[in-house]
Amino acid sequence: MIVLVINAGSSSVKYQVFNAVEEKVLAKGVVERIGMSGAILTHRPTGGKEVRLSGEILDHKMAIEYVVSILLSKNHGVIKDKSEIDAVGHRVVHGGEAFSKSVLITEEVMAEIRACIDYAPLHNPPNLKGINAAKTLLPEVPQVAVFDTAFHQSMPAHAYLYGLPYTLYKRHGIRRYGFHGTSHRYVSERAAELLQQPVDSLRMITAHLGNGASVAAVHGGKSVDTSMGFTPLEGLLMGTRCGDMDPAIILQIMHKEELTLNDANTLLNKHSGLQGVSGLSSDMREIEEEYDESKRAKLAHDIFTYRLKKYIGAYAAAMGGLDVLVFTGGIGENSPMVREHATKGLEFMGIQVDTELNEGTSKNERLISSGDSVAKVYVIPTNEELVIARDTKRIVDEIKS
Ligand code: ADP
Repeated sequence: MIVLVINAGSSSVKYQVFNAVEEKVLAKGVVERIGMSGAILTHRPTGGKEVRLSGEILDHKMAIEYVVSILLSKNHGVIKDKSEIDAVGHRVVHGGEAFSKSVLITEEVMAEIRACIDYAPLHNPPNLKGINAAKTLLPEVPQVAVFDTAFHQSMPAHAYLYGLPYTLYKRHGIRRYGFHGTSHRYVSERAAELLQQPVDSLRMITAHLGNGASVAAVHGGKSVDTSMGFTPLEGLLMGTRCGDMDPAIILQIMHKEELTLNDANTLLNKHSGLQGVSGLSSDMREIEEEYDESKRAKLAHDIFTYRLKKYIGAYAAAMGGLDVLVFTGGIGENSPMVREHATKGLEFMGIQVDTELNEGTSKNERLISSGDSVAKVYVIPTNEELVIARDTKRIVDEIKS
């Protein structure tokens, strides 16, 4: 079964083509600068050369047309005919309370995704554009939606509700939803496989640390808490997002700096986090390069790892202990320094990272805790596209049988 996985953003479409039976990637790529000058398609067939094509790509439909045509192309293609695509799997950011798992896309599902636009105004509209474009170009092909929020729908009410009037939850859906669910789910399942223990027996903390960053408490394979909330702004310090803070600060800075709602939104989402604290960069590599030279780079890094450590402690308390800690995402997978700082001093709760294993530069999944660490600590590269391809295959197999 060939599955095309699509992740449609506001001006980009990322894609991967899977042989979903063998779980092999046949090709992957990205269309960037959609609707702008200099739009570009970068395509990499597995084992082949990277190709770059530029053209006028006005919208998501044209972008996916380009993708399908390069998949069919004589020199760089991986399929001979459009009909070889058996299913399309879409990443959808927000599924609200309507979706606790991946679903076949129907008109009702589209309406629910539309109803969640208020919660994810920057993400759900381009996700819908990607779905509409794929439906138009491949009308006979089943389409599946895989939601970032779905995995966290298992959170209990005491974890997902804020201390606000309950009517606001009922009226406007103000609650914690959590994000990166596909990644937290993948790495938690993978860690259980590596440990050769059933996931339902384990208390895990998964730390997805990329430009956006979140931690999840996964008890018995189910998310019971996570650090992102109503939006991806809550929780850890991130590349450009502030994470947790006293909500009264927003009122104060809007007043003092005479900011509009829009300005405040931009400040908290785009000019805060590592970027805002360091004044240097939102990129963890650059922060680490300057750690010894720049006081503010050090401060940004220290806030990042201190907050991460607090969440690890909090979630171990929430689950009554910890069996597995997993690091993933660009920072989680590649920064020994973040992993070291975030776990230092946690020996009292059974976390002991082995210095040598932590420093290792392998890109593969690996155990980094020492032999006598009670909790196992893993680095597991995330693979959200594989989860989307798997879910898509499973759902399409179910409707066929
Ligand atoms: P996104 O959330 O956009 O998918 P990624 O998961 O790719 O982002 O993570 C990007 C982050 O990973 C950046 O802050 C980058 O600096 C960081 N990163 C990548 N490689 C390293 C490294 N070797 N050391 C420290 N940080 C790294």
